[in-house]
Amino acid sequence: MSAANEQTPAAGLDVERIRRDFPILAEQSHGHPLVFLDSAASAQKPQQVIDAMSEFYSHDYANIHRGVYELSQRATDAFEAAREKVRAFLNAGEAREIVFVRGTTEAINLVAMTHGRKHVGAGDEILITAMEHHSNIVPWQLLCEDRGANLVVAPIDDRGALLLDEFEKRLSPRTRMVAVTHVSNALGSVNPVREITRLAHERGVPVLVDGAQAVPHGRIDVRELDCDFYAFSSHKLFGPTGIGVLYGRSELLESMPPYQGGGEMILTVSFEKSTWAEIPHKFEAGTPDIAAAIGLGAAIDYLGEVGFDHIAVHERDLLEYGTALLDAIPGLRMIGTAADKAAVLSFVLDGVHPHDVGTILDQEGIAVRTGHHCAQPVMDRFEVPATTRASVALYSTRAELDALARAILKTQEIFT
Ligand code: PLP
Repeated sequence: MSAANEQTPAAGLDVERIRRDFPILAEQSHGHPLVFLDSAASAQKPQQVIDAMSEFYSHDYANIHRGVYELSQRATDAFEAAREKVRAFLNAGEAREIVFVRGTTEAINLVAMTHGRKHVGAGDEILITAMEHHSNIVPWQLLCEDRGANLVVAPIDDRGALLLDEFEKRLSPRTRMVAVTHVSNALGSVNPVREITRLAHERGVPVLVDGAQAVPHGRIDVRELDCDFYAFSSHKLFGPTGIGVLYGRSELLESMPPYQGGGEMILTVSFEKSTWAEIPHKFEAGTPDIAAAIGLGAAIDYLGEVGFDHIAVHERDLLEYGTALLDAIPGLRMIGTAADKAAVLSFVLDGVHPHDVGTILDQEGIAVRTGHHCAQPVMDRFEVPATTRASVALYSTRAELDALARAILKTQEIFT
Protein backbone atom coordinates (compact mmCIF):
# COMPACT_ATOMS: atom_id res chain seq x y z
CA MET A 1 0.00 0.00 0.00
CA SER A 2 2.79 2.42 0.77
CA ALA A 3 4.20 1.81 -2.70
CA ALA A 4 0.86 2.90 -4.07
CA ASN A 5 1.04 6.05 -2.08
CA GLU A 6 4.40 6.88 -3.62
CA GLN A 7 2.90 6.48 -7.07
CA THR A 8 -0.03 8.76 -6.31
CA PRO A 9 0.78 12.29 -7.41
CA ALA A 10 -1.79 13.83 -5.11
CA ALA A 11 0.45 16.30 -3.38
CA GLY A 12 -1.07 17.44 -0.12
CA LEU A 13 -3.01 14.27 0.69
CA ASP A 14 -1.21 11.76 2.88
CA VAL A 15 -3.37 8.75 2.03
CA GLU A 16 -1.58 6.38 4.40
CA ARG A 17 -2.22 8.75 7.30
CA ILE A 18 -5.84 9.09 6.26
CA ARG A 19 -6.23 5.32 6.06
CA ARG A 20 -5.07 5.01 9.66
CA ASP A 21 -8.01 7.22 10.66
CA PHE A 22 -10.42 4.58 9.31
CA PRO A 23 -10.07 1.50 11.54
CA ILE A 24 -12.14 -0.74 9.27
CA LEU A 25 -9.60 -0.40 6.47
CA ALA A 26 -7.22 -2.59 8.49
CA GLU A 27 -9.71 -5.47 8.37
CA GLN A 28 -9.16 -8.65 6.38
CA SER A 29 -11.74 -10.22 4.11
CA HIS A 30 -11.46 -13.87 3.00
CA GLY A 31 -7.84 -13.78 4.19
CA HIS A 32 -6.92 -10.73 2.09
CA PRO A 33 -6.47 -7.12 3.14
CA LEU A 34 -9.87 -5.49 2.68
CA VAL A 35 -10.07 -3.48 -0.56
CA PHE A 36 -13.13 -1.35 -0.04
CA LEU A 37 -14.39 0.01 -3.35
CA ASP A 38 -18.03 0.56 -2.43
CA SER A 39 -17.98 4.02 -0.90
CA ALA A 40 -20.73 5.23 -3.24
CA ALA A 41 -23.11 2.85 -1.44
CA SER A 42 -21.93 3.95 1.99
CA ALA A 43 -18.60 5.40 3.05
CA GLN A 44 -16.48 4.16 5.95
CA LYS A 45 -16.15 6.22 9.14
CA PRO A 46 -13.03 7.84 10.58
CA GLN A 47 -12.21 7.33 14.26
CA GLN A 48 -12.96 11.03 14.80
CA VAL A 49 -16.63 10.44 13.92
CA ILE A 50 -16.86 7.28 16.02
CA ASP A 51 -15.24 9.10 18.97
CA ALA A 52 -17.49 12.16 18.68
CA MET A 53 -20.59 9.97 18.93
CA SER A 54 -19.18 7.87 21.74
CA GLU A 55 -18.15 11.04 23.67
CA PHE A 56 -21.62 12.45 23.21
CA TYR A 57 -23.29 9.30 24.54
CA SER A 58 -20.76 9.08 27.40
CA HIS A 59 -20.83 12.68 28.58
CA ASP A 60 -23.51 14.90 27.02
CA TYR A 61 -26.49 12.71 26.15
CA ALA A 62 -30.05 13.87 26.87
CA ASN A 63 -33.06 14.68 24.76
CA ILE A 64 -32.88 18.07 23.09
CA HIS A 65 -34.94 21.27 22.90
CA ARG A 66 -37.03 20.25 25.93
CA GLY A 67 -35.03 20.05 29.09
CA VAL A 68 -34.30 23.01 31.33
CA TYR A 69 -31.41 21.13 32.94
CA GLU A 70 -27.79 21.58 31.95
CA LEU A 71 -27.29 18.24 30.23
CA SER A 72 -30.22 18.83 27.90
CA GLN A 73 -28.84 22.28 27.15
CA ARG A 74 -25.46 20.78 26.29
CA ALA A 75 -27.07 18.18 24.02
CA THR A 76 -29.19 20.87 22.34
CA ASP A 77 -26.14 23.07 21.82
CA ALA A 78 -24.19 20.17 20.28
CA PHE A 79 -27.12 19.31 17.96
CA GLU A 80 -27.55 22.91 16.85
CA ALA A 81 -23.78 23.27 16.41
CA ALA A 82 -23.97 20.34 13.98
CA ARG A 83 -26.67 22.19 12.05
CA GLU A 84 -24.39 25.21 11.81
CA LYS A 85 -21.55 22.99 10.50
CA VAL A 86 -23.87 21.68 7.78
CA ARG A 87 -24.88 25.25 6.93
CA ALA A 88 -21.25 26.25 6.51
CA PHE A 89 -20.48 23.09 4.50
CA LEU A 90 -23.27 23.91 2.04
CA ASN A 91 -22.68 27.67 2.29
CA ALA A 92 -26.37 28.16 2.99
CA GLY A 93 -27.36 31.62 4.15
CA GLU A 94 -29.01 30.59 7.42
CA ALA A 95 -28.95 27.59 9.77
CA ARG A 96 -32.77 27.50 9.74
CA GLU A 97 -32.56 26.45 6.09
CA ILE A 98 -31.01 23.14 7.21
CA VAL A 99 -33.60 20.45 8.04
CA PHE A 100 -32.36 17.22 9.60
CA VAL A 101 -34.05 14.18 8.06
CA ARG A 102 -33.19 10.47 7.85
CA GLY A 103 -31.39 10.76 4.53
CA THR A 104 -31.67 11.79 0.90
CA THR A 105 -34.70 9.58 0.35
CA GLU A 106 -36.65 11.20 3.14
CA ALA A 107 -35.58 14.69 2.05
CA ILE A 108 -36.95 14.15 -1.46
CA ASN A 109 -40.18 12.60 -0.16
CA LEU A 110 -40.59 15.57 2.15
CA VAL A 111 -40.39 18.05 -0.72
CA ALA A 112 -42.66 15.97 -2.98
CA MET A 113 -45.30 15.53 -0.28
CA THR A 114 -45.31 19.13 0.97
CA HIS A 115 -44.17 21.57 -1.70
CA GLY A 116 -45.28 19.15 -4.41
CA ARG A 117 -48.77 18.54 -3.04
CA LYS A 118 -49.26 22.26 -2.62
CA HIS A 119 -48.18 23.30 -6.10
CA VAL A 120 -48.73 20.37 -8.45
CA GLY A 121 -52.14 19.74 -10.01
CA ALA A 122 -53.73 17.69 -12.79
CA GLY A 123 -51.81 17.95 -16.06
CA ASP A 124 -48.76 19.58 -14.44
CA GLU A 125 -45.29 18.17 -15.00
CA ILE A 126 -42.25 17.21 -12.94
CA LEU A 127 -39.02 17.16 -14.93
CA ILE A 128 -36.25 14.73 -13.95
CA THR A 129 -33.35 13.14 -15.88
CA ALA A 130 -32.77 9.63 -17.18
CA MET A 131 -29.92 9.05 -14.72
CA GLU A 132 -31.85 9.42 -11.45
CA HIS A 133 -31.64 7.08 -8.47
CA HIS A 134 -35.00 5.47 -7.63
CA SER A 135 -35.29 7.82 -4.68
CA ASN A 136 -35.48 10.77 -7.08
CA ILE A 137 -38.03 9.00 -9.30
CA VAL A 138 -40.53 7.19 -7.10
CA PRO A 139 -41.52 10.09 -4.77
CA TRP A 140 -42.39 12.12 -7.88
CA GLN A 141 -44.31 9.20 -9.36
CA LEU A 142 -46.33 8.96 -6.15
CA LEU A 143 -47.02 12.68 -6.35
CA CYS A 144 -48.00 12.42 -10.02
CA GLU A 145 -50.40 9.56 -9.28
CA ASP A 146 -51.90 11.50 -6.42
CA ARG A 147 -52.34 14.66 -8.48
CA GLY A 148 -52.90 13.41 -12.01
CA ALA A 149 -49.61 15.03 -13.03
CA ASN A 150 -46.95 13.70 -15.44
CA LEU A 151 -43.35 12.71 -14.93
CA VAL A 152 -41.18 13.99 -17.80
CA VAL A 153 -37.67 12.60 -18.33
CA ALA A 154 -34.76 14.40 -20.00
CA PRO A 155 -32.55 11.90 -21.90
CA ILE A 156 -28.82 11.22 -21.59
CA ASP A 157 -26.31 10.45 -24.34
CA ASP A 158 -24.36 7.23 -24.92
CA ARG A 159 -21.63 8.37 -22.54
CA GLY A 160 -24.15 9.01 -19.78
CA ALA A 161 -24.15 12.81 -19.93
CA LEU A 162 -27.35 14.82 -19.75
CA LEU A 163 -28.50 16.27 -23.09
CA LEU A 164 -28.98 19.82 -21.89
CA ASP A 165 -30.79 21.03 -25.01
CA GLU A 166 -33.25 18.14 -24.65
CA PHE A 167 -33.66 19.03 -21.00
CA GLU A 168 -34.45 22.62 -21.96
CA LYS A 169 -37.00 21.49 -24.57
CA ARG A 170 -38.85 19.59 -21.85
CA LEU A 171 -39.20 22.63 -19.61
CA SER A 172 -42.79 23.54 -20.41
CA PRO A 173 -45.37 25.99 -19.07
CA ARG A 174 -46.71 23.01 -17.07
CA THR A 175 -43.39 22.20 -15.38
CA ARG A 176 -43.83 22.72 -11.64
CA MET A 177 -40.59 21.20 -10.38
CA VAL A 178 -37.19 20.11 -11.68
CA ALA A 179 -35.48 17.33 -9.70
CA VAL A 180 -31.98 16.29 -10.80
CA THR A 181 -29.08 14.41 -9.35
CA HIS A 182 -25.83 16.33 -8.91
CA VAL A 183 -23.75 13.20 -9.55
CA SER A 184 -25.13 9.91 -10.91
CA ASN A 185 -24.54 6.95 -8.59
CA ALA A 186 -24.64 4.43 -11.45
CA LEU A 187 -22.54 6.35 -14.00
CA GLY A 188 -20.58 8.98 -12.10
CA SER A 189 -21.79 11.70 -14.51
CA VAL A 190 -21.77 15.19 -13.01
CA ASN A 191 -24.76 17.26 -14.04
CA PRO A 192 -24.39 20.94 -14.99
CA VAL A 193 -26.51 22.04 -12.04
CA ARG A 194 -25.76 25.74 -12.41
CA GLU A 195 -27.02 25.68 -16.02
CA ILE A 196 -30.05 23.63 -15.00
CA THR A 197 -31.05 26.08 -12.26
CA ARG A 198 -30.58 29.00 -14.66
CA LEU A 199 -32.83 27.43 -17.31
CA ALA A 200 -35.48 26.44 -14.76
CA HIS A 201 -35.48 29.76 -12.93
CA GLU A 202 -35.89 31.68 -16.19
CA ARG A 203 -39.27 29.93 -16.29
CA GLY A 204 -39.99 30.33 -12.58
CA VAL A 205 -39.54 26.60 -11.84
CA PRO A 206 -37.89 25.53 -8.55
CA VAL A 207 -35.04 22.99 -8.62
CA LEU A 208 -34.30 20.17 -6.19
CA VAL A 209 -30.80 18.70 -6.37
CA ASP A 210 -30.08 15.18 -5.12
CA GLY A 211 -26.58 15.65 -3.74
CA ALA A 212 -26.13 12.14 -2.27
CA GLN A 213 -23.18 11.31 -4.56
CA ALA A 214 -21.74 14.82 -4.79
CA VAL A 215 -21.07 15.71 -1.16
CA PRO A 216 -18.25 13.19 -0.50
CA HIS A 217 -16.18 14.70 -3.29
CA GLY A 218 -16.07 18.39 -2.55
CA ARG A 219 -17.52 21.38 -0.80
CA ILE A 220 -20.97 22.35 -2.05
CA ASP A 221 -22.18 25.91 -2.47
CA VAL A 222 -25.96 25.97 -2.67
CA ARG A 223 -25.99 29.72 -3.27
CA GLU A 224 -23.57 29.45 -6.14
CA LEU A 225 -25.55 26.49 -7.57
CA ASP A 226 -28.65 28.63 -6.99
CA CYS A 227 -30.78 25.56 -6.24
CA ASP A 228 -33.96 25.72 -4.17
CA PHE A 229 -33.53 22.39 -2.39
CA TYR A 230 -30.43 20.24 -1.86
CA ALA A 231 -30.59 16.77 -0.31
CA PHE A 232 -27.85 14.48 0.99
CA SER A 233 -27.20 11.56 3.38
CA SER A 234 -24.62 11.61 6.15
CA HIS A 235 -23.59 7.99 5.65
CA LYS A 236 -22.10 8.72 2.22
CA LEU A 237 -20.18 11.64 3.73
CA PHE A 238 -18.21 9.48 6.20
CA GLY A 239 -20.80 10.20 8.89
CA PRO A 240 -23.27 7.82 10.56
CA THR A 241 -26.42 6.32 9.09
CA GLY A 242 -29.79 7.57 10.29
CA ILE A 243 -29.34 11.23 9.44
CA GLY A 244 -29.36 13.38 6.35
CA VAL A 245 -30.07 16.90 5.30
CA LEU A 246 -32.59 18.85 3.34
CA TYR A 247 -31.45 22.36 2.52
CA GLY A 248 -34.32 24.57 1.39
CA ARG A 249 -34.53 28.27 0.70
CA SER A 250 -36.13 29.82 3.78
CA GLU A 251 -39.03 31.40 1.89
CA LEU A 252 -39.92 28.05 0.33
CA LEU A 253 -39.62 26.10 3.59
CA GLU A 254 -41.78 28.70 5.31
CA SER A 255 -44.47 28.39 2.66
CA MET A 256 -44.62 24.57 2.84
CA PRO A 257 -47.06 22.65 5.06
CA PRO A 258 -45.57 20.24 7.63
CA TYR A 259 -44.53 16.76 6.50
CA GLN A 260 -45.13 14.76 9.67
CA GLY A 261 -47.00 15.76 12.80
CA GLY A 262 -45.93 15.18 16.39
CA GLY A 263 -43.77 16.61 19.11
CA GLU A 264 -41.06 19.19 18.36
CA MET A 265 -42.78 20.53 15.22
CA ILE A 266 -45.62 22.39 16.95
CA LEU A 267 -46.00 25.78 18.57
CA THR A 268 -49.38 25.12 20.19
CA VAL A 269 -51.71 22.11 20.24
CA SER A 270 -55.38 21.98 21.12
CA PHE A 271 -58.05 19.53 20.01
CA GLU A 272 -59.51 22.22 17.79
CA LYS A 273 -56.34 23.39 16.08
CA SER A 274 -52.57 23.21 16.26
CA THR A 275 -49.99 25.69 15.06
CA TRP A 276 -46.50 25.00 13.77
CA ALA A 277 -43.05 25.80 15.02
CA GLU A 278 -40.71 27.95 12.97
CA ILE A 279 -38.50 26.33 10.33
CA PRO A 280 -36.54 24.08 10.45
CA HIS A 281 -38.34 22.57 13.49
CA LYS A 282 -41.65 22.53 11.61
CA PHE A 283 -40.18 19.63 9.59
CA GLU A 284 -38.47 17.81 12.46
CA ALA A 285 -41.30 15.96 14.20
CA GLY A 286 -40.28 13.64 17.03
CA THR A 287 -36.92 12.96 18.64
CA PRO A 288 -34.22 13.04 15.98
CA ASP A 289 -31.08 10.91 15.81
CA ILE A 290 -29.17 13.37 17.99
CA ALA A 291 -25.89 11.47 18.14
CA ALA A 292 -25.94 10.98 14.37
CA ALA A 293 -26.21 14.73 13.82
CA ILE A 294 -23.16 15.17 16.04
CA GLY A 295 -21.34 12.46 14.09
CA LEU A 296 -22.21 14.23 10.84
CA GLY A 297 -20.79 17.46 12.24
CA ALA A 298 -17.58 15.60 13.14
CA ALA A 299 -17.38 14.16 9.60
CA ILE A 300 -17.65 17.66 8.14
CA ASP A 301 -14.91 18.88 10.52
CA TYR A 302 -12.75 15.93 9.47
CA LEU A 303 -13.14 16.63 5.76
CA GLY A 304 -12.41 20.30 6.33
CA GLU A 305 -9.15 19.36 8.05
CA VAL A 306 -8.14 17.00 5.24
CA GLY A 307 -9.00 19.71 2.73
CA PHE A 308 -11.64 19.46 0.02
CA ASP A 309 -9.23 20.57 -2.69
CA HIS A 310 -6.79 17.81 -1.78
CA ILE A 311 -9.58 15.24 -1.86
CA ALA A 312 -10.64 16.36 -5.33
CA VAL A 313 -7.08 16.12 -6.71
CA HIS A 314 -6.60 12.65 -5.21
CA GLU A 315 -9.90 11.34 -6.53
CA ARG A 316 -9.31 12.75 -9.99
CA ASP A 317 -6.01 10.89 -10.08
CA LEU A 318 -7.71 7.66 -8.98
CA LEU A 319 -10.47 8.02 -11.53
CA GLU A 320 -8.01 8.59 -14.38
CA TYR A 321 -5.73 5.79 -13.21
CA GLY A 322 -8.60 3.34 -12.74
CA THR A 323 -10.21 4.26 -16.06
CA ALA A 324 -6.94 3.62 -17.93
CA LEU A 325 -6.48 0.29 -16.13
CA LEU A 326 -9.98 -0.96 -16.88
CA ASP A 327 -10.02 0.37 -20.44
CA ALA A 328 -6.98 -1.80 -21.15
CA ILE A 329 -8.85 -5.01 -20.25
CA PRO A 330 -10.22 -6.72 -23.39
CA GLY A 331 -13.90 -7.60 -23.14
CA LEU A 332 -14.59 -4.93 -20.51
CA ARG A 333 -17.03 -2.15 -21.36
CA MET A 334 -17.26 0.93 -19.19
CA ILE A 335 -20.80 2.16 -18.55
CA GLY A 336 -20.64 5.89 -17.98
CA THR A 337 -17.85 7.78 -19.68
CA ALA A 338 -19.08 11.37 -19.43
CA ALA A 339 -16.40 14.05 -19.71
CA ASP A 340 -17.38 15.42 -16.29
CA LYS A 341 -17.35 12.43 -13.98
CA ALA A 342 -16.77 11.62 -10.32
CA ALA A 343 -15.44 8.63 -8.38
CA VAL A 344 -17.38 5.80 -10.08
CA LEU A 345 -16.09 3.01 -12.34
CA SER A 346 -19.10 1.04 -13.63
CA PHE A 347 -18.51 -1.77 -16.11
CA VAL A 348 -19.72 -4.99 -17.68
CA LEU A 349 -17.58 -7.96 -18.74
CA ASP A 350 -18.33 -9.96 -21.88
CA GLY A 351 -19.91 -13.29 -20.99
CA VAL A 352 -19.81 -12.85 -17.19
CA HIS A 353 -22.79 -11.71 -15.15
CA PRO A 354 -21.95 -8.82 -12.80
CA HIS A 355 -23.05 -10.88 -9.79
CA ASP A 356 -20.43 -13.49 -10.70
CA VAL A 357 -17.83 -10.74 -11.04
CA GLY A 358 -18.78 -9.45 -7.59
CA THR A 359 -18.55 -12.93 -6.08
CA ILE A 360 -15.06 -13.60 -7.45
CA LEU A 361 -13.85 -10.14 -6.40
CA ASP A 362 -15.23 -10.78 -2.92
CA GLN A 363 -13.11 -13.92 -2.66
CA GLU A 364 -10.09 -11.65 -3.28
CA GLY A 365 -11.16 -9.32 -0.46
CA ILE A 366 -12.47 -6.69 -2.86
CA ALA A 367 -15.82 -5.10 -2.01
CA VAL A 368 -17.67 -3.69 -5.02
CA ARG A 369 -21.36 -3.28 -5.76
CA THR A 370 -23.14 -5.29 -8.40
CA GLY A 371 -26.70 -4.87 -9.61
CA HIS A 372 -28.86 -2.07 -10.91
CA HIS A 373 -27.69 0.39 -8.23
CA CYS A 374 -31.26 1.56 -7.62
CA ALA A 375 -31.18 3.05 -11.10
CA GLN A 376 -33.04 0.52 -13.24
CA PRO A 377 -33.86 3.05 -15.98
CA VAL A 378 -30.11 3.65 -16.42
CA MET A 379 -29.58 -0.09 -16.93
CA ASP A 380 -32.39 -0.09 -19.51
CA ARG A 381 -30.82 2.91 -21.27
CA PHE A 382 -27.53 1.00 -21.67
CA GLU A 383 -29.30 -2.30 -22.35
CA VAL A 384 -27.54 -4.17 -19.54
CA PRO A 385 -29.22 -6.07 -16.70
CA ALA A 386 -26.72 -4.79 -14.16
CA THR A 387 -23.15 -3.50 -13.82
CA THR A 388 -20.24 -3.98 -11.48
CA ARG A 389 -19.45 -0.68 -9.81
CA ALA A 390 -16.19 0.19 -8.10
CA SER A 391 -16.26 3.55 -6.35
CA VAL A 392 -13.40 5.44 -4.75
CA ALA A 393 -13.11 7.88 -1.88
CA LEU A 394 -10.41 9.90 -0.18
CA TYR A 395 -8.93 6.75 1.45
CA SER A 396 -8.70 4.73 -1.80
CA THR A 397 -5.34 4.00 -3.43
CA ARG A 398 -3.90 3.12 -6.81
CA ALA A 399 -2.79 -0.22 -5.34
CA GLU A 400 -6.42 -1.05 -4.62
CA LEU A 401 -7.30 -0.31 -8.25
CA ASP A 402 -4.40 -2.54 -9.32
CA ALA A 403 -5.87 -5.31 -7.16
CA LEU A 404 -9.25 -4.73 -8.80
CA ALA A 405 -7.79 -5.02 -12.30
CA ARG A 406 -5.91 -8.24 -11.37
CA ALA A 407 -9.07 -9.76 -9.92
CA ILE A 408 -11.06 -8.87 -13.05
CA LEU A 409 -8.48 -10.66 -15.20
CA LYS A 410 -8.72 -13.66 -12.87
CA THR A 411 -12.51 -13.60 -13.22
CA GLN A 412 -12.18 -13.65 -16.99
CA GLU A 413 -9.81 -16.64 -16.78
CA ILE A 414 -12.31 -18.53 -14.63
CA PHE A 415 -15.21 -17.87 -16.96
CA THR A 416 -13.52 -18.54 -20.31
N1 PLP B 1 -29.63 9.50 -4.55
C1 PLP B 1 -28.48 8.97 -4.97
C2 PLP B 1 -27.82 9.54 -6.20
C3 PLP B 1 -27.91 7.90 -4.30
O1 PLP B 1 -26.78 7.36 -4.74
C4 PLP B 1 -28.57 7.38 -3.15
C5 PLP B 1 -28.03 6.20 -2.45
O2 PLP B 1 -27.38 5.36 -3.02
C6 PLP B 1 -29.75 7.99 -2.74
C7 PLP B 1 -30.26 9.04 -3.46
C8 PLP B 1 -30.50 7.48 -1.55
O3 PLP B 1 -29.79 7.73 -0.38
P1 PLP B 1 -30.32 7.16 1.01
O4 PLP B 1 -30.55 5.71 0.81
O5 PLP B 1 -29.21 7.46 1.95
O6 PLP B 1 -31.57 7.91 1.34
